Amino acid sequence: MNQTLTFDQAVNLFKEPHRIFIAAHIMPDGDCIGSALGLTWALRKIGKTVTVTCHDHVSESFAFLPGLKELSAQVPTDEELLVFVDGSSADRYGAAFDPKLFGARPVLAIDHHATNENFAPLNFVDATRGSCAEIIFRFVRALDIPLDATIAQCLLTGIITDTLGFRTSNTSPDTLRIASALIEAGATIGGVVEQVFNQYSLPSLRLRGKVFSAAQLDGNILWAEVSQKDLRDFGITNNGAGGMINALLGVDAAQIAALFTEKESGKIDVSMRARPGYDVSGVAARLGGGGHKQAAGALLDGPLTSARERVLAELRKVV
Ligand code: AMP
Ligand code: MN
Ligand code: MN
Repeated sequence: MNQTLTFDQAVNLFKEPHRIFIAAHIMPDGDCIGSALGLTWALRKIGKTVTVTCHDHVSESFAFLPGLKELSAQVPTDEELLVFVDGSSADRYGAAFDPKLFGARPVLAIDHHATNENFAPLNFVDATRGSCAEIIFRFVRALDIPLDATIAQCLLTGIITDTLGFRTSNTSPDTLRIASALIEAGATIGGVVEQVFNQYSLPSLRLRGKVFSAAQLDGNILWAEVSQKDLRDFGITNNGAGGMINALLGVDAAQIAALFTEKESGKIDVSMRARPGYDVSGVAARLGGGGHKQAAGALLDGPLTSARERVLAELRKVV
């Protein structure tokens, strides 16, 4: 039976083990990477040996974070504690989450998604948090690990990416207090923002032009799509499409936005965003994905048109 833990119970799991395995989720974003690396550097500071992993391609745009190169597709071996960060379900971790490999050691998921399925044997979930990195910060504090600039920059990256630079409705007073402590420890907002938001390639900008000009309004749902052909035509190899979804919801007539991206596998990634007062997490969960009220996603079977019709039919029910 899977268990949910109190904060203190979850913190205690870190005290005894010397070797710890940490996994970031697939289709990695700044929060899972920043949370995984921030926790890694913190635990190393108190003498732990940490293996930090991700079973997917990790974007070079996070190369400014120390340790990024270590994130490779490893599975648990002899570690005494396994930790899965920032994911709402087991399928977000690829081969790293394999109950056959668990044995008797503790396996803990730390997450902040409204759709979290308590998928791990042990779970600590705080869905009030705008980012998983805020929860990791609390663990670091509770373990009495002194912050340094490396840990701080990793965690601040998680906070800034998931809150879109302190702009989402789940940015709380505590988010800002934590960010403030991280900045005092040597992290800089500018350093993160420059790397994460202000860096896309010219082909990616041109792709945006094409995708945005074909965007459609369906009631108050704004949608757009990116095909493999678009990515090829614009010479984009690895997801230059990131970040477009947030611009779509900037349209005043839209309460909900959806962006459909055709993956190399033929699967369709749908990214959804909703204005406060609307909730796309339920739709994402019904489609086999997950997320938060204001930002959620799922991976669907293709082709683009049928995936789009399936999603729009669900979204029309929530607007
Ligand atoms: P994105 O639109 O990719 O930025 O994702 C928005 C939110 O939805 C994030 O919190 C993701 O973790 C979550 N999410 C996106 N895609 C999936 C998926 N296929 N399964 C579960 N959660 C997802
Ligand atoms: Mn994430
Ligand atoms: Mn997150």
